[in-house]
Amino acid sequence: MKCPKCGSTNVTVNVIQQTKLVDKHHGIIWWVCIGWYWIPIKWLFLTVPALIVKIFIPKRQKIKQKTKSVCICQNCGHNWRA
Ligand SMILES: [Zn+2]
Repeated sequence: MKCPKCGSTNVTVNVIQQTKLVDKHHGIIWWVCIGWYWIPIKWLFLTVPALIVKIFIPKRQKIKQKTKSVCICQNCGHNWRA
């Protein structure tokens, strides 16, 4: 492994484990235009059946874990994805 910045071979490779949590946030405009009526509709048509399904069918959870390697140059401090 060679640093692309300074050419040093004094590079350490770190394996980072990532768990991705996708969190959606809506802006104020979304709430004014869509949110106030979409949420009850969504709740009624999606959440309620989903809850009923959840009661009868145990949910199988999927844990998505990503591992990525990050190389860090000990010479200049440059880091990049392997
Ligand atoms: Zn370097």
